Amino acid sequence: MNPKEIMQIFADNAYVRTGGSQEELRCAEYIREKCAQMGLQAQIMPFPVDMATIQEATLTVDGQEVTCKGYLCAGSAEVEAPFYYLRDTSAVSLAQCKGKIVMIDGYLGYWKYHDLLDNGAVGFITYDGNINYADEDIDQRELRSYVSKGEKIPGVNINAKAAMELIRKGSKNAKITLKQEEYTGESRNVILDMPGEVDEYIILTAHYDSTSLSQGAYDNMSGSVGLLGIAESFVGKPHRYGLRFIWCGSEERGLLGAKAYCQDEEALKKAVLNINLDMIGCIMGDFAATCSTEEALMHYIQYMGLELGMGVRTRQDVHSSDSTPFADKGVPAVTFVRRSPPNTGTIHNSYDTMALVSGEQMAADIAFITAFTGRMANAVCCPVKRVIPDCVKEKLDIYLCRKRDKS
Ligand SMILES: [Zn+2]
Repeated sequence: MNPKEIMQIFADNAYVRTGGSQEELRCAEYIREKCAQMGLQAQIMPFPVDMATIQEATLTVDGQEVTCKGYLCAGSAEVEAPFYYLRDTSAVSLAQCKGKIVMIDGYLGYWKYHDLLDNGAVGFITYDGNINYADEDIDQRELRSYVSKGEKIPGVNINAKAAMELIRKGSKNAKITLKQEEYTGESRNVILDMPGEVDEYIILTAHYDSTSLSQGAYDNMSGSVGLLGIAESFVGKPHRYGLRFIWCGSEERGLLGAKAYCQDEEALKKAVLNINLDMIGCIMGDFAATCSTEEALMHYIQYMGLELGMGVRTRQDVHSSDSTPFADKGVPAVTFVRRSPPNTGTIHNSYDTMALVSGEQMAADIAFITAFTGRMANAVCCPVKRVIPDCVKEKLDIYLCRKRDKS
């Protein structure tokens, strides 16, 4: 795949494609068609996801309406209560949530949401965007089922400028009205098998969905193109281990495609390694590999970088991406990422476009990951042991909300 062909794929997919949407399906069909053009037969595998249609979402603070988007899957309710800004999760701040509509910083994770519930909050407000950006964009957020565990209070998302204004004005009272229809919809993984000489295989993953404001070029059409490039390089070339490519749906909604796939524990028994691509090919920034397995893989990748002329930062950790459900099921995993400095590339907003990536950098990153895949796929015996060390297991427990991070 040459730089021009690579950039054409970005151009063909320059649209928002959230998990479970028709646009996500359109992109899945595009990927399947690209495989077909290489003579490869990929399959679209659907899985169920929570969906909702918002009928009404309003936030009124001290009699003034604040532009907002209602949280999907957060139920339907109308609440009016004192407004409170939770600046931290110290006991003294949490104690002041009782009976209030609480505004928080950052994402609404499992522990933060349950802190709100446990301390008697009746509604919540989050904000995103950046006060320095010209836009007034508001991301469409959802109350994920693994966060709510069925306990729902209404919430809205607003722009950071509006959030700052609420605090500057010393806001006192808030009212949230949220009405929506919730239902079960469908997202999908696209799966391509390239069998090897033995029946064990390497699973290569990259998500192709985006968040609500984003064309998701860098995050993660780049990784999706990467998988196409790797697949193309193996066409007509026999390899020892099989290669299973999975373009994952609904990663941005909580790794749902990878989690759905990993429910098939029988299929995972023959998986020796997961190679995940999440954000490559950006014009600026360094190249990194997160290894959710024993340390030896980090050193191997560093040596490969020296051999092939690519600087690679490696760490032993859990990556917030599709590799994590695999590692959690005992499959050693590595995520490759080229990390853009924040001032030359941001994600999950309307600025994540193909302007952040270049065909040349994409080709270079794909070449490196292809070389790594080739070494693993043609190994007499896959060098990565099927081991998830205790320090990685501990991080998995924290990332997957089974244990609270005490640090
Ligand atoms: Zn991503």
